[in-house]
Parts: sequence; structure tokens; C-alpha cells
Amino acid sequence: MSDVLSHIIPRLSRSDQDQKIESANFSVPFNRSSLEGRELEYIFQAITSGQISGGQTFSKRCELLLEQVLGVKRALITTSCTHALEMCALLLNIQPGDEIITTSFTFVSTVNAFVLRGATPIFCDIRADTLNIDENKLEALITPNTKAIVPIHYSGIACEMDQIVEVANRYDIPIIEDNAHGLFGKYKKRYLGTIGCLATQSFHETKNITCGEGGALLINDPHYLERAEIICEKGTDRSRFFRGQVDKYTWIDVGSSYVISDVLAAFLFAQLEVRQKIQFRRQSLWERYHFELAEWACFNNIRQPFIPPECDPGWHLYYLILPSLEQRQALISHLKAAGILAVFHYHPLHLSEMGRKLTKQSQMCPVCEDIHDRILRLPFYNSMTDGQQTYILETLLKFSCG
Ligand SMILES: *Cc1c(COP(=O)(O)O)cnc(C)c1O
Repeated sequence: MSDVLSHIIPRLSRSDQDQKIESANFSVPFNRSSLEGRELEYIFQAITSGQISGGQTFSKRCELLLEQVLGVKRALITTSCTHALEMCALLLNIQPGDEIITTSFTFVSTVNAFVLRGATPIFCDIRADTLNIDENKLEALITPNTKAIVPIHYSGIACEMDQIVEVANRYDIPIIEDNAHGLFGKYKKRYLGTIGCLATQSFHETKNITCGEGGALLINDPHYLERAEIICEKGTDRSRFFRGQVDKYTWIDVGSSYVISDVLAAFLFAQLEVRQKIQFRRQSLWERYHFELAEWACFNNIRQPFIPPECDPGWHLYYLILPSLEQRQALISHLKAAGILAVFHYHPLHLSEMGRKLTKQSQMCPVCEDIHDRILRLPFYNSMTDGQQTYILETLLKFSCG
């Protein structure tokens, strides 16, 4: 280990202390990022190589790893999942007046990326069992203006893709998978992110594998390959120039700067390298919640997540659905009193201030509204210790919906 690194490490552990003090009110945080492998060593390598811009060694290594493991034609590492979604909207030439169909039970970026280009979101309700887009309500929402269907594999458990693909193909509408939750999850033995013509990943701090802020665009339809590289490189053919395919690079299309610094890519590559360890740890945390809470949940009329038989989960999050809003709030307070932070999401987008402005017809998503009132996410992160989870479980088991 280098001198520089030995200077960095004590400083890192000091900020570790700071963080503990900040979150002193909670002995168990909701989420926490952690070093999983050779992050510091790779960052040091990136910095001392003198090449820390986008498209360098570690970015290429991340892209190659995703391409080989997932079997996608091309993976482009981006500054965020939000930006990868924006790239999708540009690749599809989304225009004012176009519509995209997605769910209201998602992160705002799933929709905002298309709204930025002038599209109107059409919200499809979710299934009460998986909280994914309800494939049986999809077709009724398609109009001549529908330009994309954007399913989210909620919590890393796949949407019913066969039926979604069948409907999309019949109307010739591209599918973009927002796979922020589902990296390395599978549907009928196929990796999520390999089914739509495009897919997006997030490496935000809250995701299984992270570099703080980062993302990826996965390209399955070869039709988008060339233009995706150009959009990512500020509308220039710089990627072709770096490969020696052209002798100068120039402005040829719209675009922006969606590439990530190699310092962050170095952090990301170290995590991607140990993806099996990370996924295995999350699977065992998930399964322990699931099995040890089963009887208590059943007794209290609390619903646990459902995994359809054709799905291998991505193990992104663990949730409970309480019988009522009041009981959900009571459980949050019960956990908070014990120093455990549990949270809920997503505020239905169609009920938000912006959502109400954008959607003319009153789009009814009763399942989404009901779930939002009753869902609770439990603390879930790679570095959670068995002891912490025992404490959370013991605290939960003392709660009764009575
Ligand atoms: C986290 C998340 C995003 C946004 O990811 P960023 O990398 O923070 O831009 C988009 N969609 C879903 C479903 C997410 O969970």
C-alpha cells in the first residue's frame, strides 16, 4: 500500500466517526454504503495513472464486465440512472405530445427523463402482489402516441415480461427496463436488463452495488448502438476517434456529458468484481427477514414480499405491507423508539404536484395509492451485521397489530 493511501485511510475512518455521531439517534440506519473490495486501491491506481476523465481503464473494465456477465450488446457507464433514462428518451426521439406508459409507484426519474423531452406520462396501476406494472391493465392505455413502455422491476423482482413483451411487440412499441433495483436478478433464467431494447441501472449509494452516484445504459437492440455512444459523448463521435475508426472527432448529433470520471469507475469496478459476495449477503439478509418474520406477519395480517416462481430476485430491498396506514405509522414509531430507522416510498407520482399538472385525465391507480399508505421498508444494506438484524427482528416481533 502506498504512502498516499495510508494518509487517506485514517481520514476515511475519521469521517466514519462523524457519520456515527450524525446518525447517533439511530443505532441501526436505514442504509449505509460500505467498502466491499479493492475500492481504495483502484482509486489510487486511477489517480496515479494520470487519466481520470471518462472512458478510461476502469470505465472500460466496468462496461466489459457488465457486457460479459449479462450478455448485453453494449453497456455504457453513465453519471446516473437518471441520465441513462434521459439518454433513452433522446435515443427514442421523444417529442412533445408523445406518451410513455409506466407506473406511478416509482422514483421520479423514471418519468422525468421523458417529461424533459415533452412527453406525457400515462400511469398504469400496479399488481398488489409484486407491486410491478399490472400487465393486464397495460394494453388499454396504449394510444397512437405511445412511444415507450417503461417497466420497473420493483425491489429486483421481475415484471411479467412475457405478457408485456407480447403487447409491446403487437403495437411495435419499444420497452425500456428501469432496472435500478434489479441488477443480476432474473426472469425465466434471463438477466433483467436484457429483455427490453434498452435498460438502465443505478449505482447510487442506496443500490446494491454503488459508486455514490453512477449508472449504466444497457443496449440490447443494435439499432441504438452507434447513436448511444455519440449522445453520451456530447454529440460527438469521440468514441470512434479513440478506437482509431476516424482521424478526428466532430459534432454530429445532440448529446450531453453522461460519462463518469474514472475515479468513480474505479470504485464501481471494485464493487462489481465482488458482486457475488454482495448479492449472496443480501440474499441471506432478505431470507432471514422473510423466514423469521413469517409467523408473526401471518398472525398480524402483515403481508410479506411475493416472489413469482419464474423470478430470481435482485435482492434490492425488503418490505412489509401493514393492514392499515395507522398500523404502518405505529410500527415506524415502535422501531424509531428502539433506534431503528425504517422508511416508506414512493409517493404516487400521479398525486404529486407535478404529476397532477401533467396528467389531464384523472388516472386512477387505486392499488398504488393503497400500497403507498401501508408499505414499510426495513433497514437493508450490505454491511448489516447478524447482530443488527437480530436486534431488528426482536424489535419487530414485539410489535402487534392487535
Ligand atoms: C434509484 C432509482 C433511479 C435513479 O437512479 P440515480 O442513479 O440516482 O439517477 C431511477 N429509477 C429507480 C426505480 C430507482 O430506484
